Amino acid sequence: MQSTMLAEVSVRGAGPVGCVLALLLHAAGRKVCLVEKKPAAAKTPFRPIALSHASRLILERAGAWHGLETTPIDRIHISQQGAFGRSCLSAADAGVPVLGYVVAYEALLRALLDHVREKRIPLEAGAGGASLVVHAEGSASGAEDRDYGQEAIVALVSTRPTATDTAWERFTPQGPLALLPLAGRYCLVWGMHPERARVLCDAPEAEFLQALAGAFGARAGAFIAVAERARAPLALRVRPSRVGEREAYIGNAAQSLHPVAGQGLNLGLRDAWDLAQVLREAQDPGEARVLQRYAAARRPDAMTTVRVTDFLARGFLGANPLAGLVRGFGLTALDICLPAKRFFARRMIYGTSALP
Ligand SMILES: Cc1cc2nc3c(=O)[nH]c(=O)nc-3n(C[C@H](O)[C@H](O)[C@H](O)COP(=O)(O)OP(=O)(O)OC[C@H]3O[C@@H](n4cnc5c(N)ncnc54)[C@H](O)[C@@H]3O)c2cc1C
Repeated sequence: MQSTMLAEVSVRGAGPVGCVLALLLHAAGRKVCLVEKKPAAAKTPFRPIALSHASRLILERAGAWHGLETTPIDRIHISQQGAFGRSCLSAADAGVPVLGYVVAYEALLRALLDHVREKRIPLEAGAGGASLVVHAEGSASGAEDRDYGQEAIVALVSTRPTATDTAWERFTPQGPLALLPLAGRYCLVWGMHPERARVLCDAPEAEFLQALAGAFGARAGAFIAVAERARAPLALRVRPSRVGEREAYIGNAAQSLHPVAGQGLNLGLRDAWDLAQVLREAQDPGEARVLQRYAAARRPDAMTTVRVTDFLARGFLGANPLAGLVRGFGLTALDICLPAKRFFARRMIYGTSALP
């Protein structure tokens, strides 16, 4: 096992983004260590993750895709409650084999940590010295904030018929509602006012399912059971700079987003990929010029993804009929204009990055 003292790069935070960076750097022959404050046995609340096709490519290149239990998404249906207009994106529209893959955060993390141990990458509780410290702690300290005044209810929902390969995104006046297929059930991520989220999270099952059917309708089938209900706060946080003196920031430590478009981890994995490319040949990984190259490479992708996500989180709120009409035309236009659809879908999959 490599010793922390000899590490060139110390990655703080063994979440999915930190682990992937460590695996990519290890594969490139760099001496890397991981520092994690959470005990190995700590449980994480249920959280669904929709991985894009680009994230699959990154995980493959990190040697961590094979054996991961995922459910493919072949189609995404987007609609709004109380107004006309809908759009349907398919893998064929985007020119990719599969639009995305749903995995439970905990399963993904477990698999990544297994690979880290298998590769004998040091994983420790305390920080040692290194030429470069990469922050992957999952929260963007010193960041610019936007509180959406919302929480998300996260849960696993059973339907009749069972979930297959379609993901659903429905914008309601109170907040966005996503259903992502996972092993025959749907993962629900439902944004709303925090007080309503608290009430619904504790409500009897039948009452919860009735509220869900009221907001979503019947297009995914009948809601028959719910499990693993939890709440998550929703905010946008972006660090003004993703580099410092012998420091770099990746994943949620650089930016954390509203989950409406399922972009947070996908963007974080592209951070890890670009940083690994920049560090691959660098003589001194902590050198200012090297870190500036990383910051410049990430700027367009991060800025675009933050703006699109923020627009989707705020632009579809409220019950104003005129705004509903404009959004309806937007969704319909996206649905019938194939080049626009392909452009939008590929941007959500690859960002502006150079992958594949
Ligand atoms: C409800 C919900 C649904 C989501 N759905 C999606 C989705 O569909 N698709 C998507 O791409 N993204 C999604 N996201 C976002 C995604 O979960 C995050 O972007 C992702 O987890 C960020 O990964 P990370 O490794 O940067 O941070 P984290 O996952 O937060 O991991 C950070 C790690 O650092 C450790 N740590 C913290 N402080 C320290 C310290 N001082 N020293 C050492 N270690 C430390 C923590 O214990 C943790 O293990 C969703 C988020 C939410 C809330």
